[in-house]
Amino acid sequence: MVEEVALTDADVPAWWPGLYDVHVHFLPPNVQAKVWAQFDRAGPKIGREWPISYRGSEEERVDQLRALGVRRFGALPYAHRPGIAGYLNDWARGFAERVPEALWSATLYPEPEAATYVPELIAGGVEVFKVHVQVGEFHLDDPLLDGVWAAIADAGTPVVVHAGSGPVGNAFTGPEPLRRVLERHPLLTAVVAHMGAPEYVEFLELAERHERTYLDTTMMFTDFFDAAAPYPSELFPRLADLADKVLLGSDFPTIPYPYAHQLEGLTRLGERHPGLGEDWLRAVCWENPVRLLGDPL
Ligand SMILES: [Zn+2]
Repeated sequence: MVEEVALTDADVPAWWPGLYDVHVHFLPPNVQAKVWAQFDRAGPKIGREWPISYRGSEEERVDQLRALGVRRFGALPYAHRPGIAGYLNDWARGFAERVPEALWSATLYPEPEAATYVPELIAGGVEVFKVHVQVGEFHLDDPLLDGVWAAIADAGTPVVVHAGSGPVGNAFTGPEPLRRVLERHPLLTAVVAHMGAPEYVEFLELAERHERTYLDTTMMFTDFFDAAAPYPSELFPRLADLADKVLLGSDFPTIPYPYAHQLEGLTRLGERHPGLGEDWLRAVCWENPVRLLGDPL
């Protein structure tokens, strides 16, 4: 499981003034076990060997993030079918109440009840939503979500969207549905997970075009992702220009390498393009998420 890396988890806490990781998952234990079983089987939505590095108890995983100096993190639940968002959201609210570093996170699904529970979550102060199109198999521009996107756009609450076709695409993935949602709701705060892998250029264009569309770094520039869906180096100058629109994400705990390797991948970018050096990295790992989601210090 452990690859040879120059940077180890023990080195990570030295990062300034800490890390702000928008893309971390915490799920109810029974749901987490089912998700990990999919990864262990390299199930149809995974498509490859995916040995998980951090599969301790919830408490152990929280402690691991603290030891890494992750000062604030998303706790992104995601609904894979109708009727489950309420359960996941109740659990995630409790998690955020008992773990002060966790953002209060919630999910939604195209179902009539979303028109009720989403505004209630917004009124309560939910901090981030997550939707997973590849797993949930729904269209982002499903008519059942139109009013939901309007409410979220008005509130300014960020939505982390797994819309890219990685690791295994289906009829619901790709940039077009998000493009249509953003045309209707141009002020929606959308965070494109995995920089939209593998449709990098299309999602980069969306982030360039829309004031509140961001990209997260989840699994990007790791050896694991570089082998499967390498980021085109000709896009580096545009990624550098987007310095205030890129957010640290890791996918902890369901990653097949040590956490430090995510940071190592980002650090290596500075050797490949001068605009992706230390200043860019500090913005990505701290300043941008602080501006978007609030300062935890
Ligand atoms: Zn994820």
